[in-house]
Amino acid sequence: MTESTVTLGRFFAAAREGRLTAIRCGGCGALAVPPKELCPECGARRWEPVPLSGEGTIASFTVIRVAPRGHADEAPYAIAAVRLREGVSLLGRVVDVPLDSLAIGMPVRFRPIVVKDRPAIGFGPRQP
Ligand SMILES: [Zn+2]
Repeated sequence: MTESTVTLGRFFAAAREGRLTAIRCGGCGALAVPPKELCPECGARRWEPVPLSGEGTIASFTVIRVAPRGHADEAPYAIAAVRLREGVSLLGRVVDVPLDSLAIGMPVRFRPIVVKDRPAIGFGPRQP
């Protein structure tokens, strides 16, 4: 692959089609998702794309009961930090899980969602 950068735009375009891609730093090997311009670990700018399985577990979550402006009709909903199998964490909206059954460690799987006509990161339930 000759493309050296996975831009945020490409990241979300791929996510919309159900593919999650992280980037791995050519300097120190750190994984980043969503893509960043510079490696937060070593400051390098040599990324290579790494496909992710999309499988992970909920590391923490917050139930949004008072939503940001423009999202009021969507509340309540949950935003979770999901620790992916590859070792990186990604924030996303939890879908198809009753809010009162959310739990740390719950297995989830990436699912592309659309929020207000924009592609977004979602996570739905998965069997352990
Ligand atoms: Zn690095």
